[in-house]
Amino acid sequence: MGPKLASTNGSMNMSYGKRAFFAYGVDQQGQAGWFANVPSKKPLTVGQARAIGGDEWLRILRELYAQDRTAAPEILRHVRPADLVIVGALEDLPTVPTWSRGAMVLVGDSAHATSPSSGQGASIAVESAIQLARCLRDLPTAEAAFGAYERLRRARVERIIAGGARTSSEKAAGPVARVFRDLTMPTVMKLMAKPERMAWQVDYRIDFDAPVDESAILPTR
Ligand SMILES: Cc1cc2nc3c(=O)[nH]c(=O)nc-3n(C[C@H](O)[C@H](O)[C@H](O)COP(=O)(O)OP(=O)(O)OC[C@H]3O[C@@H](n4cnc5c(N)ncnc54)[C@H](O)[C@@H]3O)c2cc1C
Repeated sequence: MGPKLASTNGSMNMSYGKRAFFAYGVDQQGQAGWFANVPSKKPLTVGQARAIGGDEWLRILRELYAQDRTAAPEILRHVRPADLVIVGALEDLPTVPTWSRGAMVLVGDSAHATSPSSGQGASIAVESAIQLARCLRDLPTAEAAFGAYERLRRARVERIIAGGARTSSEKAAGPVARVFRDLTMPTVMKLMAKPERMAWQVDYRIDFDAPVDESAILPTR
């Protein structure tokens, strides 16, 4: 990355470009980290995406963001094909019906993978691990512990997954939706992005020492 972009001072800047979403951060040394969401009618597998190759992806990306008045064109000018981490399509798993069977239990992405748009996947993986540990500590059998763990976690993680899916789909808006979105975004952000509205998601606290609540131990159905 060249010296042209100023540091974003620890923030990620995100932009809905004309044709695709782009996010980046620049550190004090001028090093940029970025990611691009490239809309695609037919989702590509990792293998298909990688088969396209770094040179071609870079050409596609530069063309995709060429008309945007954001940092994307400048950043992409400095990227080399070998720098690209090419992944396949983003896929949502809205719900995983079975989280445990016998002595086996799922935790983290295997139970509740969420779109990177939510920025919450690692956080909810850690939360689930903590809740699972509490349940295993407090309940007499693995079956009881796994059931309580799922009851403590499922509604919260699926709400986050649904929110991430909504954000991802917004990133590939068509031309009319784009104009509407750009006009309404400042007001929507003022109303929606208040810390108190996000608190349920980002201020979530687990009291590890507290015994597992009875409502989690006793199934409701
Ligand atoms: C592009 C992107 C951006 C993201 N941004 C954010 C963010 O900003 N904030 C956030 O909180 N989350 C984010 N996430 C999500 C986060 O990375 C995941 O939710 C988190 O890593 C899930 O942790 P995990 O331990 O469940 O799974 P993983 O981190 O996937 O760990 C699973 C591990 O198991 C290993 N494994 C797989 N199969 C086997 C096997 N058979 N034997 C042995 N090992 C195996 C894998 O190699 C891997 O190391 C992002 C994800 C992506 C893809």
